[in-house]
Amino acid sequence: MTDQVITFSGVHKRYGRQQVLCGIDLIVPRGQFLGLVGVNGAGKTTMIKCLLDFTSLDSGSIRIRGQDSSITEARNDLAYLPEKFTPPYYLTGRDFLEYMSRLHQAVFQQEQIESMLGILDLDLAALTKPVRQLSKGMSQKLGLAACLLSDKELLIMDEPMSGLDPRSRAYLKQYLLGLKARNKTLFFSTHLLNDVEVLCDQVAVLHQGQIRFTGSPAECCKQFETDDFEQAYLKCINSGKE
Ligand code: ADP
Repeated sequence: MTDQVITFSGVHKRYGRQQVLCGIDLIVPRGQFLGLVGVNGAGKTTMIKCLLDFTSLDSGSIRIRGQDSSITEARNDLAYLPEKFTPPYYLTGRDFLEYMSRLHQAVFQQEQIESMLGILDLDLAALTKPVRQLSKGMSQKLGLAACLLSDKELLIMDEPMSGLDPRSRAYLKQYLLGLKARNKTLFFSTHLLNDVEVLCDQVAVLHQGQIRFTGSPAECCKQFETDDFEQAYLKCINSGKE
């Protein structure tokens, strides 16, 4: 079995006349965490939508463990957290997690659910309340809980930390580092460069439709001759091509 969990090869995508992705090549090996960063509108969500076959490619290919990602089976062993996630408003937190456990063909045991809610710093009352009564951050945590409880090998998350308070973010980062130790693979978009530094083996900087840099945050700093990852990121998107 291939050690390349995700492979983008020459991916082009346009919406109408707007070319959003212009030849994306990217590899995420098994057990690595890759953080996708870029300005608003850079195309991060579009890359994720292409990966999950939510939208078609104009050219190129995306493979998951060697299979074309448009094949349903290729997407069996992954869990996905959309951007600005809100579960259906009429479900309770528990209903939602039960629904997601069926979708993931997994069994979420009560103790696992309680432990996960503890890790995410989410009050157990969220299980009995309808989602419409939860705050944005609490809804986001329910989505994260469903994703993490699935225990899938590959996690794909679109801005997973958005809306989380600093304590939950810290707890979540610790949990994700534990998943890395278990050789899980994570592909996520974020604006939080500090999270990338703490979590990621690789950062991919998407700018003007192209990947301007891939490598570790330390390599990014080295290439752009600074000790500060934020400065390296700015230099990367303000400079010419890699
Ligand atoms: P990011 O996630 O990096 O903020 P997106 O992938 O959401 O960026 O969007 C990239 C560009 O594609 C933006 O200019 C956005 O307006 C455009 N776009 C995204 N989705 C659609 C769509 N369904 N139809 C038309 N344009 C879209």
